[in-house]
Amino acid sequence: MSEQECIFCRVAAGEIKAEIVYEDERAVAFRDINPQAPVHVLVIPREHIASLSDASPERDALFGHLLRVAAQVAAVEGISESGFRTVVNNGAGAGQSVFHLHLHVIGGRRLSWPPG
Ligand code: 5GP
Ligand code: ZN
Repeated sequence: MSEQECIFCRVAAGEIKAEIVYEDERAVAFRDINPQAPVHVLVIPREHIASLSDASPERDALFGHLLRVAAQVAAVEGISESGFRTVVNNGAGAGQSVFHLHLHVIGGRRLSWPPG
């Protein structure tokens, strides 16, 4: 899929509407269109990276930044204390449906383990 067709590239570019809760020069965080909990935010890199398997030493700083943004979103959403989950589905077999890397930040309700 080209970056022109990638829905999350288009969200980052402002071409597809989303409820953005945080953005900076490297990352964008917005509410999931089909929330699985009272808080369900997606954190993405502006750069098109298909999945976590595309990690590389050059991307260490970016990936670390995405995790910090996830923690910051959780704090702003008020779920740091109650608990939240940060999930990256990698590959169709693990439930990845959008092939632009995204961290799910989920909370605001009791979360069970193991996930399905
Ligand atoms: P995945 O299944 O790839 O881990 O997660 C993709 C997520 O993106 C799903 O939770 C889905 O609800 C969300 N999503 C898909 N399309 C859109 C969209 O156009 N806007 C927003 N805000 N979320 C989307
Ligand atoms: Zn993309």
